[in-house]
Amino acid sequence: MTVEIQKVGIIGAGQMGSGIAQVCAMAGFDVYLHDISRDRINAALATVDGSIARDVAKGLAREEDRKAALTRIHAAIETENLSVCDLVIEAASENEDVKRKIFTRLSPVLKPGAFIGTNTSSISITRLASTTDRPEKFIGIHFMNPVPRMQLVELIRGIATEDATFEAAKLFIARLGKTSTVAEDFPAFIVNRILLPMINEAIYTLYEGVGTVDAIDTAMRLGANHPMGPLQLADFIGLDTCLSVMQVLHEGLADSKYRPCPLLVKYVEAGWLGRKTQRGFYDYRGGAPVPTR
Ligand code: NAD
Repeated sequence: MTVEIQKVGIIGAGQMGSGIAQVCAMAGFDVYLHDISRDRINAALATVDGSIARDVAKGLAREEDRKAALTRIHAAIETENLSVCDLVIEAASENEDVKRKIFTRLSPVLKPGAFIGTNTSSISITRLASTTDRPEKFIGIHFMNPVPRMQLVELIRGIATEDATFEAAKLFIARLGKTSTVAEDFPAFIVNRILLPMINEAIYTLYEGVGTVDAIDTAMRLGANHPMGPLQLADFIGLDTCLSVMQVLHEGLADSKYRPCPLLVKYVEAGWLGRKTQRGFYDYRGGAPVPTR
């Protein structure tokens, strides 16, 4: 049985989950947003409100669309509240244990035809699918950050993903006004397989004293025409997520070229995770970001 996607559940209301909630609600889907606490869901709702309000101020969205979108996003305090959903997208922290537990708990709650998507940046879709009761209805739906601004979504089939699931996901992405590309189920897929080793190399460049934070970011912005320096981008992604992706690449491909830089490990151990904790390669606690090295 294939269901038409109308109600979308999202597990994990962090930077990605709130962005996915925003684009789904703006596209007319009913959204059920779940996280470990009501506070996190409320914080995400405030983020979405602020984000659409900025679009309204810039003339990119209408005020009535903002109001309508917000009424479409429901707080799903319990996993059971996701039972009405046709598709649930998991966007919780990049940690395989966390995701496995979420899927084990989610499967019995869902209606039989419902699809499950994961926004993982790097973890095997086939392995995550195997923790559910429906690997044929499971697919990687990998949004880019910030979700409302970025056009691309990678679609990744697991070994058991049915064509109908892939087609439903493709249609869903088109209804969001985004473009999908297909990646095979190998560690970190396409975008992060290429992007994260570059970021890790930038951190090695800092670690080995080749350049300062400012020199490295300026070099790549002006010398390679990147819109953001790699260290600024790392802070934006979240250093915990960067480290997890490098670990998945290192373990999954068993090649020392993917060894996470020890300096990245140190920042994560310090809890300096980038923008989301106000400190990473830059300190964001004051007005303008200040390099931390
Ligand atoms: P984040 O740290 O901003 O948010 C993660 C959220 O998951 C938090 O709100 C946390 O409370 C919640 N969470 C943790 N355990 C949970 C559980 N058991 N049940 C429900 N919620 C739980 O992280 P993020 O940047 O939004 O990343 C989320 C996912 O998206 C990860 O898989 C990440 O790899 C992927 N992703 C991130 C980016 C990026 O640039 N940050 C880009 C694409 C994909």
